Amino acid sequence: MNTVTESRHFIEIMPKIELHLHLEGAFNFEFLFHLIEKYGGDPSVSSSADLQKKFVFRDFPHFIELWFWKNQFFKSPADFEESTYYTIKDLAGQNVIYAEVFYSPWDFVINNLTVEEITEATLSGIRKAENEFPIRCNLIADIVRDYGAEGAIKRLDQITPFRDSGVIGIGLGGSEQKFPAQEFGEVFREAQRRGFHLTAHAGEASGPESVWAAIKHLGVERIGHGVRAIEDPGLIEYLKTEQIPLEVCVTSNIKTRVFDSLSVHPLPVLSEKGLFVTINSDDPAMFGSTLTDELLLVHEKMDFSLPVLQNLMENALNATFLNKSEKSRLKNIFHLKSANTAG
Ligand SMILES: [Zn+2]
Repeated sequence: MNTVTESRHFIEIMPKIELHLHLEGAFNFEFLFHLIEKYGGDPSVSSSADLQKKFVFRDFPHFIELWFWKNQFFKSPADFEESTYYTIKDLAGQNVIYAEVFYSPWDFVINNLTVEEITEATLSGIRKAENEFPIRCNLIADIVRDYGAEGAIKRLDQITPFRDSGVIGIGLGGSEQKFPAQEFGEVFREAQRRGFHLTAHAGEASGPESVWAAIKHLGVERIGHGVRAIEDPGLIEYLKTEQIPLEVCVTSNIKTRVFDSLSVHPLPVLSEKGLFVTINSDDPAMFGSTLTDELLLVHEKMDFSLPVLQNLMENALNATFLNKSEKSRLKNIFHLKSANTAG
C-alpha cells in the first residue's frame, strides 16, 4: 500500500472517532443555505457553493463575524434538530463510528430559544441520525468562559436534566486569556459530583500555565488542544506520565494562527515524546476541513504512517467518556471495521 491513492482510500474507509468538534462550527453548507432561504434569503449568497466561499475567512475578527452571522439563521428547535442530523450524517459518511461533540446552546438564547429546547432538539437530531447510520454520538456542553464564572452553575443546572439522555460532559471554550480556568473550579467540581465528564480548552490561545490550571483547578480528564504545552518541558513530562489525552486539531491551529505553519506545529514532537494525542477537526465547516482531511494532512505533511494513524484512532477510542462496557462494544466494532480496512 504505497501509492497516494491507496493511502487516501485507506484513510477514507478507516473507522474513526471524533472527540473535539463544535456543532456550531460543523454545519452542513447545503442545510445552512436552506435555512438562509427559509428565513428570507441573504443578498450575499445565492447558492450553497457561494456560502462555502463566504466562509473562507481573512483573519480572526472575520472568523468571529461569520460565526455570529450564521447563528442568526438558527431560529427554531427544528433548525437545530435538522442541522445536527445532517452534521452527524456527514460524520457517518466519513466512517466516524463514534463522536463526542460540543454544543453551546447559550449562543442562541438571543434568538428567543431556551437551552432546554435547543438541547432536546439537538439530541433528537442525533438519535435520528443514529437510527439511520452506523454511528453513535454524545454531547458535551461547552459552558463558555466568556459568559463568566458567576452564572456557570446556572448553566450547569440547565443541562443537568439531560445527563442521562446524551449530555455526558462539560467543556470550557472561549477566551482563555481573559477568563482563566481557576475561576471555573467550583462549577467543574459540581459537574463532576453530578456525574458529568470534564474537558477544557487550554494551551491554545494561552500557554502552558493555562493547561496547568485546567489540570489543577478543573480536574479535567482531557485537554482541548493543549498543544502549547510544548513550551514547558515540565508539563510535557507530566502529560506523558499521567497520559492525559490531548484533543489536537491541526488545521484549526494554523487557521487561527496558534502556529504560523504546519512545519512548526508540535504534533509530531508530542507524539514522538509519547504523549497521549488524538486527531480532531474542531470547526470543520469554518476551517474548510474534515476529520478525513486532518488524517490525510498529518499522513502527507507530517509523515504519520497509516498504522500510526490507526493507533491514534484507538487512542481516541480509549479517551472517550464511554463507560467500560460501551467502550468494549465500540472496540469490537472498531477492530472489525479496521480488519476490513486492511483487507
Ligand atoms: Zn474547540
